[in-house]
Amino acid sequence: MRLEGQHAVVTGGGTGIGAAIAEALANEGAMITLVGRRLEKLEETAHRLRASRGTNDEIVTCLAADVTERDQIDAAFATARAAHGPISILIPNAGAATSATFAKTSLETWRQMLAVNLDGVFHCCQSALPDLVAAERGRIVAVASTASLRGFPYSAAYGTAKHAALGLIRMIAADHAGTSLTANAVCPGYTDTDLVDTAAARVSSMTGVSSDNLKTQFGGFNPSGRLIEPAEIAAVVLELILSDRNGEAVVIE
Ligand code: NAD
Repeated sequence: MRLEGQHAVVTGGGTGIGAAIAEALANEGAMITLVGRRLEKLEETAHRLRASRGTNDEIVTCLAADVTERDQIDAAFATARAAHGPISILIPNAGAATSATFAKTSLETWRQMLAVNLDGVFHCCQSALPDLVAAERGRIVAVASTASLRGFPYSAAYGTAKHAALGLIRMIAADHAGTSLTANAVCPGYTDTDLVDTAAARVSSMTGVSSDNLKTQFGGFNPSGRLIEPAEIAAVVLELILSDRNGEAVVIE
């Protein structure tokens, strides 16, 4: 139980990578706050975390909030603090992707992608910052992407937002270098979650190729030749939390 006494907030924690990270941290003894828009998804994950930890205790709190709305995040984090004490670990994970080339990216899509994938990280990091700075070992581990590091087709808005989100994490890391707060990011390649299911369904409806076939193709774009499992990412996040590394972007593909 290496995270006993810690309070971790995971955004987008009801599904996919966020849910896997929350489970890994709960299994190390952390109290967890799951933040997302769909309370029922968060509750499903909370149920699983309690079962995995073998307890009915109130180790998990679920709070409905949209990461693009600063007032909702401030209110949710205040409730989280009241439930489990100051936030010592923040996982800005919530994100969404659309598929369009630059030529076909509308201003509306551009703004939406920046709002969720970049502003969301800004709001959460700033809202939790006083707690994280005061913590004995404050930790931010953002879920960025390989699209934070290089170009991908059909990813103009998403990839730009993810580049900027990683940039923000590096700036936070630099601002706090030599202090007890570290800020790092993980950069997953194609990972087996709802996000990839939705992308496969979208491409399938345009091309007639089956979603399963497309998911295999997406996995083939990773150097490992397969889709990454959310638990593999959670293991790297845990490693970063337990270390004193700062300003790093760890690629998992
Ligand atoms: P997912 O769709 O299962 O998870 C995203 C979560 O974020 C969902 O629970 C969703 O409800 C939540 N969310 C979206 N918009 C939100 C908002 N405005 N406010 C609050 N919550 C919101 O997919 P995932 O793959 O687990 O995605 C998690 C993170 O991983 C995202 O940041 C994504 O960009 C990143 N990522 C995913 C992949 C992949 O291939 N799946 C690869 C690299 C990075």
